[in-house]
Amino acid sequence: MRADDHLSLSPVGLYCAAGDFHIDPVRPVARAVITHGHSDHARAGHGHVLATRQTLAIMKIRCGAGFAGSTQALAYGETLKLDGVELSLHPAGHVLGSAQVLIASRRRRIVISGDYKREADPTCAPFEPLACDTFITEATFGLPVFRHSRTAAEVEKLLASHRLFPERAHLVGAYALGKAQRLMAILRGKGFDAPIYIHGAVEKLTEFYKAEGYDLGEIRKVAGEKRGALGGALVICPPSALQDLWSRKFPDPVTAFASGWMRVRARARQRGVELPLVISDHADWDGLCTTILDTGCSELLVTHGEADALVHWARARGLSAEPLHLLGYGDEEAEETTVSSEPLP
Ligand SMILES: [Zn+2]
Ligand SMILES: [Zn+2]
Repeated sequence: MRADDHLSLSPVGLYCAAGDFHIDPVRPVARAVITHGHSDHARAGHGHVLATRQTLAIMKIRCGAGFAGSTQALAYGETLKLDGVELSLHPAGHVLGSAQVLIASRRRRIVISGDYKREADPTCAPFEPLACDTFITEATFGLPVFRHSRTAAEVEKLLASHRLFPERAHLVGAYALGKAQRLMAILRGKGFDAPIYIHGAVEKLTEFYKAEGYDLGEIRKVAGEKRGALGGALVICPPSALQDLWSRKFPDPVTAFASGWMRVRARARQRGVELPLVISDHADWDGLCTTILDTGCSELLVTHGEADALVHWARARGLSAEPLHLLGYGDEEAEETTVSSEPLP
């Protein structure tokens, strides 16, 4: 990469010397800009954190009030003048509050996308393409085999199964931040008006989305119910709970998992998922390529994920492109760890 005072690589991630801040650093730093609330990007222990108001609130919910020494909220499109550069945040379409980071001067415009998607999502602001010289992208699904289905069609599959097996509980594994609430909103949009049951790990973030004005209908906690009596219930839980003892007490459960990885049949089989739902909060191959072209960038840097094919694709189009191989960014869609707050039977 062309390192200068706008952007360089430090041992903990991307660093802007002009503004003296790191972006999504993987270890504690003095000043951090955080793109969104997923735990591999939003870590506790920084001296100062700048992010959208929603991301700060999500970090507080997940890590406690003392997650940073001090914080500063920046609204989408608001500009912060720093020493020699301007910093602004713009919607990334990934989860509520998720942002791309624009570092701009008269010389150079750099966009760090964070995680993003291009598909419509009723629970967050849509991705905003930004013109730039250097575009820094993730590549979680950076292979041409990854073409996500339309989410609406996947949710129809879930509803069809629910109609076909009305006596069976339907347990849907979905990441607790973003995916769970997006599923709820889409189900409501399709007229599903029965209560939706949730695992304790999904509760606080769902409350936050409701407080932010998202109408998710009637949400009930599983913890308050006898699981054996929840035949026909639709339950949203963290993916890890599908394999827990927790899931066994439901009446003849259908297990579903909402993830971009469900495109890979072996993954669904390996996890014992009966109803794989290809629903992702990350751009698929077409989404990545379209976005790179939309930015009009001349330089592409790939932070993590399947970088090679995307770098090859970009070079074939005359762009300068490089993988950064940043470590520490997992893919929340596949291996999520959860602190279970549900009592075992
Ligand atoms: Zn994420
Ligand atoms: Zn991520």
